[in-house]
Amino acid sequence: MSLIHLKDVNKTYQGAQPLHVLKGIDLDIERGEFVSIMGASGSGKSTLMHILGLLDTLSSGSYLLCGTDVSHLSPAALTARRASEIGFVFQQFQLLPGLTALENTALPLAIGGIPRSVRLARARAALLSVGLGDRMEHLPNALSGGQQQRVAIARAIITRPCVLLADEPTAGLDPVSAADVLALFDSLHESGHTIVLITHDPAAARRATRRLRLENGVLFNIQ
Ligand code: ADP
Ligand code: MG
Repeated sequence: MSLIHLKDVNKTYQGAQPLHVLKGIDLDIERGEFVSIMGASGSGKSTLMHILGLLDTLSSGSYLLCGTDVSHLSPAALTARRASEIGFVFQQFQLLPGLTALENTALPLAIGGIPRSVRLARARAALLSVGLGDRMEHLPNALSGGQQQRVAIARAIITRPCVLLADEPTAGLDPVSAADVLALFDSLHESGHTIVLITHDPAAARRATRRLRLENGVLFNIQ
């Protein structure tokens, strides 16, 4: 059974002029795959990621995540599944400025009733695994962009999600930091994580084991 199974998924943003953004998307992603998605600005990449990550709902079609139909879940049920099953990495890091790297990393565990000492121990392990063992008490503004993104990746994996979704995670980084972050995705893939990487960078996309392109809301395989 696929980890992710989309069948004939359509997304239309309603409004004065409805916008049909995703047009009959079929997509299966197996556990342990590393899939990249390229596409021009406005082609619907973030919309697709929001649907995969249960941040938005489909207009029609079906979505099975780990065998469960999530197309018709209530907002509360979606939030619960998102918290336990999805790890997000965004272009703009989205760290809380008043919290240390350690506290930011531990944040997703705060809603689970896990004792603080356990949360912090897991956050320390996650930060060590992304190479930030010496930056745990730093606030985000005392970290470079690449380091902030590594904190965001530690935060994304701390819940042991079944899929890691990254939306242009290197777009705001200098080339050296971008290379570090991509190397980190490679090692996460090697350690068994399932990754969906949205990127504008062809070299980044080529690191994936399967490459897709979104064009005007239609998904194509890149050979
Ligand atoms: P990409 O990430 O590939 O640049 P998006 O998925 O962000 O593309 O956007 C695809 C299209 O949908 C764009 O035309 C965008 O303006 C539109 N769009 C995105 N989000 C919304 C929204 N919440 N409401 C209405 N239109 C949206
Ligand atoms: Mg986008």
